[in-house]
Amino acid sequence: MSTAFASPPTSTKSSPNPATGTGGGGGGGMTPRRAAVSAVTSKVLNPQTIEFIDVPAAEYYSANVFTKSVMKDRLPKAVYKQIINTIDSGQKLAPENADMVAAAMKDWAMEKGATHYAHVFYPLTGATAEKHDSFFSPTSDGGTLSEFSGKQLCQGEPDGSSFPSGGIRVTSQARGYTIWDVTSPAYILENPNGNTLCIPTAFVSWTGEALDKKTPVLRSMQALNKQAQRILKIFGHFDGAFVASTAGPEQEYFLVDRHFYYARPDLLNAGRTLFGCKPPKGQEFDDHYFGAIPERVLAFMCEAERELFKLGIPVKTRHNEVAPGQFEIAPVFESANVAADHQQQMMITLSKTAEKYGMACLMHEKPFAGVNGSGKHVNWSLGSSSQGNMLDPGDTPHDNAQFLVFCAAIIRAVYKHQGLLRSVVASAGNDHRLGANEAPPAIISIFLGDQLNDVFEQIKTGGASSSIEKGTLEVGVDVLPPLPKDAGDRNRTSPFAFTGNRFEFRAVGSNQSISGPLVAMNTIIAESVDFCATKLEEAIADDPDALNGGIQNLIAEILEECSPIIFNGDGYSEEWHAEAAKRGLLNLKTTADALPELASPELAAMFSKYGVLSERELHSRLETYQEQYCMTVDVEASLCVSMAKTLIFPAAVRYQNELASTCANLKAVGYDFDTDTLDTMTALVKGLQDGIAALEHAIDDDTATTADEECRHRCDVVLPSMLAVRETVDKLEQIVADDLWPLPTYSEMLFIK
Ligand code: ADP
Ligand code: MG
Repeated sequence: MSTAFASPPTSTKSSPNPATGTGGGGGGGMTPRRAAVSAVTSKVLNPQTIEFIDVPAAEYYSANVFTKSVMKDRLPKAVYKQIINTIDSGQKLAPENADMVAAAMKDWAMEKGATHYAHVFYPLTGATAEKHDSFFSPTSDGGTLSEFSGKQLCQGEPDGSSFPSGGIRVTSQARGYTIWDVTSPAYILENPNGNTLCIPTAFVSWTGEALDKKTPVLRSMQALNKQAQRILKIFGHFDGAFVASTAGPEQEYFLVDRHFYYARPDLLNAGRTLFGCKPPKGQEFDDHYFGAIPERVLAFMCEAERELFKLGIPVKTRHNEVAPGQFEIAPVFESANVAADHQQQMMITLSKTAEKYGMACLMHEKPFAGVNGSGKHVNWSLGSSSQGNMLDPGDTPHDNAQFLVFCAAIIRAVYKHQGLLRSVVASAGNDHRLGANEAPPAIISIFLGDQLNDVFEQIKTGGASSSIEKGTLEVGVDVLPPLPKDAGDRNRTSPFAFTGNRFEFRAVGSNQSISGPLVAMNTIIAESVDFCATKLEEAIADDPDALNGGIQNLIAEILEECSPIIFNGDGYSEEWHAEAAKRGLLNLKTTADALPELASPELAAMFSKYGVLSERELHSRLETYQEQYCMTVDVEASLCVSMAKTLIFPAAVRYQNELASTCANLKAVGYDFDTDTLDTMTALVKGLQDGIAALEHAIDDDTATTADEECRHRCDVVLPSMLAVRETVDKLEQIVADDLWPLPTYSEMLFIK
């Protein structure tokens, strides 16, 4: 992309119109901002076009995936059968079969041009990590031989000692192993200069402790399956088909032109703007939401989706989101573990493809203050190959009773573990969404919709009567009337909403790995399902006919205790905050408030009881996330200081100087000069200097001795000081001469496509 320095245009800060004006930027050159505007507006886009007519999607869909059908073609029948058993029901794979799979995988990958293989893993940073090895080994005659054994497939040993381990791994015993996750398919990573066979793996320490985000997802899925089977048996389903949690994550993101991105050190280094006043025209008109997708953006989406299709990632929906420059992509749901891996690939693909189209894809939760933030709505359910989706209200009273038991278990889980659910979405970025005047709020509650709520209300007050007209309802495997199929009503402000056949956890951050939220949901629901199964098993121990009564009692008991968590109103409102406090619900506004929840001994007991995380593993997460929070704020704070000092302050004093010299010149020739603007400027310049000094002091004045205190200091002292600097800078933006202002403005970044 060429930067057109030839004809320096100016733009007004409020309405980007680079067509008029003279050069500026103090020293006669262009400000980075003006160069960026110039480059964006003079660019000629010449993206490569895709042969979409000659090469239909069905031809390349999953072309780069080592799918079950590829395995079926390439493996002996018995080996294929065994690996399918391993994938579908977790049976162990015999080592000699691993050799066969490895050989088939290598041949397939090399036919696709791969020279290397990589164990891909998911460290606690939330990013995706990969270590590449070539297939080739030298031979004694000076040639080379390609090889890939079952052992190489199954286990790797990346050094990886620099990844956060939250104290689990000291560098002196830094051995970490990657272990093949048979359930997540291997795929080809394409590059114009060579392809790589990628193998999703779990990453564990030499003691077997989980150093990553995948291992606990797999363990939590096992735990949920085990408990769900008990409920299914109670309802007469004995086939044992694996009950998997399913996930469909909707990803929101912003696109900005890369010239703007590079002209904003804050976007580049922190992923969000630390300064910038709200544009005169924002999202109030709702004219962007579901509007026509700009051509360059649509071209980007088509290519990104094509890449995702090749990887067998079932992307389905795309649309403009609420804010200008904001978009969403969502796949069809998959088994939670695969969905989590695919989500990581999706984020990488979006970023990579955006670059090709001269844009940057921002997945920060709040890149622009005062404009809608970005989340990731994680749709969650549980289902099996024989039973289908267990959160689908069924056609028969029998199905419906089972559905209501699962729903009640979820209500109980969310009520009992609000703190955990809040803490797994806690991050410095997400704090600007949750608890900061944006939906969903930091208060965790559950939305059922009017109809389902009504059903539960009736069960709660219900007794002997089975008549729905009387306002009471008896749950049972033979008496329950049909439930509303598509609950229809929608609530966009609830953090945890029932949406007809699944729950949607909306508080997840845009930038976040979905694994933590999935582990939390799977585990707390496993615990609750365990509770329900135990009660029902007791109820029918002597008398199978007691099931109806047992269900009725169970659900009523759960609602009696947990209904404060149910809220169907506007989660955004002031009244809800007061009401939630009255109900005793947690309102953990910031990461510093939320993360300490992970230190609770009850949580540690639950995670270890269900074999998901040992106490040490849980603690290592707390430590890692606290450290990440502090590091993020620290980077932002020092960026804030340096940008204020080296970009904003110089622009401000130049303008101040212009005003002052105009004043002096006019006075010299006997004119008056109204000093209002100069006075304001002088006060703001002073304010800026004071603000920077206060922030520097806040950064240095850290007397914290514990991790909790470290977080508190960032939250209570550093961030407010940054905000104070920002307020002054944003005032300056509205007064300093446009040709001196160094940073691309919100209007420019959000509206110039
Ligand atoms: P909306 O914007 O109305 O929430 P979307 O189509 O954008 O709808 O997203 C819905 C998401 O929910 C999709 O990713 C979809 O695959 C997912 N989903 C649907 N059914 C399930 C299920 N049973 N389990 C998990 N996710 C599901
Ligand atoms: Mg949704």
